Amino acid sequence: MRNPFDKSSILLIYTGGTIGMKEDPKTQALAPFDFSQILQEVPELRKFSSKIDSYTFDPLIDSSDVEPSMWVKLAELIKEKYEEYDGFIVLHGTDTMAYSASALSFMLDHLRKPVVFTGSQLPIGSLRTDGRENLISAVEIATARDRHGKAVVPEVCIFFNSQLLRGNRSCKVNSTSFDAFRSPNWPALADAGISIRYHEHAIHYPAILERKLEIHTNLDTRVAILKIHPGITAQVARNVLLGEGIRAVILETYGSGNAISKPWFTDIVKEATAAGKILLNVTQCLAGEVNMGLYATGKALADSGVISGGDMTTEGALGKLFVLMGEYPDNEKVKALLEKNLKGEISK
Ligand code: ASP
Repeated sequence: MRNPFDKSSILLIYTGGTIGMKEDPKTQALAPFDFSQILQEVPELRKFSSKIDSYTFDPLIDSSDVEPSMWVKLAELIKEKYEEYDGFIVLHGTDTMAYSASALSFMLDHLRKPVVFTGSQLPIGSLRTDGRENLISAVEIATARDRHGKAVVPEVCIFFNSQLLRGNRSCKVNSTSFDAFRSPNWPALADAGISIRYHEHAIHYPAILERKLEIHTNLDTRVAILKIHPGITAQVARNVLLGEGIRAVILETYGSGNAISKPWFTDIVKEATAAGKILLNVTQCLAGEVNMGLYATGKALADSGVISGGDMTTEGALGKLFVLMGEYPDNEKVKALLEKNLKGEISK
């Protein structure tokens, strides 16, 4: 057992993505660099008194190729190294970072240490990279402890462009700006300026500190996402909502949870819920929440057995469904837990 006041130690897990790329001086093409050489690449990291080890995924992946099996690998690695390190940094492509951080937040139970995802829009080897800044601040956050020696942010989170955000509340909102992530329905957990200011009121702490880390690696991925849009056809709605092998559907609805009120649509929805499928309503809006009692078009969904996703993001809802469905074969149990706040993903 490590003494909490020993020199802290961090495991940097490099999964792939832009951050770990470097320009080949001959070909000018971007290629991943040897991450065991990270201290040469970012010498500023030597200024930390912490021990920084690295682990590189093989193969490295562009995050567009992320699959749930990669989340399982990450969760298992964190569990295996949990006692050895005070914090974990996951270097990840930005495209699906919010999905991975959301899923991990539900897969890791009784987490007492920081798991900070970060990445960059420009490779760490390029002159104007945002990766250096993101990585250095992530290390500071992952090693931050309070006066009792406990982690300041014992959560799965994303650090990007001076802000620390809750993983399961985040989404990528910009494909070109350094300011690429937001958590519209939850305040930042910390802001990095001259110093890093932690917002304790926003941080999620484990209910029972003494519990050992547990991981959920049985993920049930039989989920579809249906974005409601003008012109959606009955055939498309039917194929998704009543599709074979689909156990749950995330309905991305308009505004405060509204969808088409025409009988052809509500009939399909009713048929799907009567067949026992889990239908979860999240809003297409970036911020705000589902309130199916507000308009007749939303009420029709509630009356048809659709569950409210409140102010959950689609990314958060997907990870939550994968984990809950993997854990519970009973859809009624899953539905009951979907409406509960498990990891700070929903405001209740
Ligand atoms: N396509 C890259 C990825 O998500 C982009 C990035 O790293 O930001 O892996």
